Amino acid sequence: MTTTATESVTGIPAAEQIGRDPVFDELGFPKDPNNLFTQTVGTMLEAANVIDVMHRVKIILAQPKNELMVHFPVRMDDGHHKLFKGYRVQHNNALGPYKGGLRFHPDVHLDDVKALALLMTMKCSLVRIPFGGGKGGVKCDPRALSVSELERVTRRFTAAIANDIGPDYDIPAPDVGTNAQVMAWIADTFQMSSSERHATDGMRVVTGKPVEIGGSLGREKATGQGVADVMAEMLPQLGLPIEGMRISVLGYGNVGSWAARILQNMGATVVGAMDHTGGLRNDTGLDTHALAEYCARHGGIAGFEKQAPKTESGQQAGRGATPISEDEFYETPVDVFIPAALEQMIQEKQSRQLKCRVVAEAANAPITPAGDRILLERGIEVLPAILCNAGGVTVSYFEWVQNKSCVSWDEETVDRELNRHMCMAARRTLLAKQQYECGLRTAAYIAALEHVSKVYKVRGIFP
Ligand code: NAD
Repeated sequence: MTTTATESVTGIPAAEQIGRDPVFDELGFPKDPNNLFTQTVGTMLEAANVIDVMHRVKIILAQPKNELMVHFPVRMDDGHHKLFKGYRVQHNNALGPYKGGLRFHPDVHLDDVKALALLMTMKCSLVRIPFGGGKGGVKCDPRALSVSELERVTRRFTAAIANDIGPDYDIPAPDVGTNAQVMAWIADTFQMSSSERHATDGMRVVTGKPVEIGGSLGREKATGQGVADVMAEMLPQLGLPIEGMRISVLGYGNVGSWAARILQNMGATVVGAMDHTGGLRNDTGLDTHALAEYCARHGGIAGFEKQAPKTESGQQAGRGATPISEDEFYETPVDVFIPAALEQMIQEKQSRQLKCRVVAEAANAPITPAGDRILLERGIEVLPAILCNAGGVTVSYFEWVQNKSCVSWDEETVDRELNRHMCMAARRTLLAKQQYECGLRTAAYIAALEHVSKVYKVRGIFP
């Protein structure tokens, strides 16, 4: 074992250690400890050093295989043209085609996309699905675009990257700011620019499609379902059964709202929720289903307590909910806090504020290394993102398999297979934690790296 003293105790690199691994010098990495890509590679290398991953595998995984950046003009509704920037990063395809979401957000940057692509390689390997890692996005604010502008941005971006994606090469999916409709436009654009002979197969170029055009039942809720599956598998061992558990959720989009609804259906009480528009608290439990409908209609949580429609029982769904500040949200006492918004939101300050026993990372990289260290000091367990939120890509894999073999699975089959994959990944992580006496995050990376390393060992490196 070549692990550092700090790693063997905590599994979290100290700020001054981020970027110190010799691989960073060898590859000429920038040393900024706040850079998400540097942090993510640092976490991966920490785990790789615990199990003595081959040097050649470490350097391959420390950089993406391909980084594509495109600029493309789009006609806006008022007739003027605007230039957009888009990215597709293909991190690794040793296990299978590149796979990962597309994000439409004003803060999309190359290094963040690279970090998210690396996380996809780790996630697919941990869950043992035959995909590599990729990620992409367009720097734009989808909320500020009309539907027809959003469609033109999507189609023009697809045309710009069409030669670099494909059903057996690189398969995008939804992420922040994109959804099944966006996937439908991508599939249609890709299909229209493919030879007619391969047209049907072209639909496999994206997953997360609407069910009508080959999407899988259970895909929309899959990431939230996977979070719930992992929690149900791991938390009772910590004396935290889902029944009666108190939860708060940061981010109430696809992942956060589905996790909240599914966990409430399983007997948990969701007492707090916050998104970019505001926060809410209700100690007797928010109506998670009504809140999801409200957010889909109004674009966010704000106003739910006053404007939510009536439930079947005739009561206003937002009754009992109180608007709260950001500080009040983080300080709301719960058993489990679920970050399901963006990266790096849980920094030192928020980690000190949290009053919970467990953080279940539904978002990618929601906690900074400094925040992580504080949670560790405070004895708060963290269920790592590459395990917790792998449900989305797992059902994406099921969608791809269904499309490839021209069959449709019923929702029960999708849910059962998802649960099986998530529980196996959770057990793999727990086994690595026991075997290497490390934290869950390092353990999840170890379980992922063991598989990808074996694949490199048997495949060798060409030539
Ligand atoms: P989404 O766009 O549906 O929702 C994002 C949510 O984050 C929204 O509720 C938004 O209001 C909230 N948010 C944004 N900025 C915020 C801020 N400053 N403060 C508070 N809330 C804020 O996105 P999503 O698909 O639910 O993705 C959420 C996270 O889960 C991301 O990290 C994404 O990469 C990850 N993820 C998504 C999937 C998937 O299948 N969609 C799969 C795996 C991981």
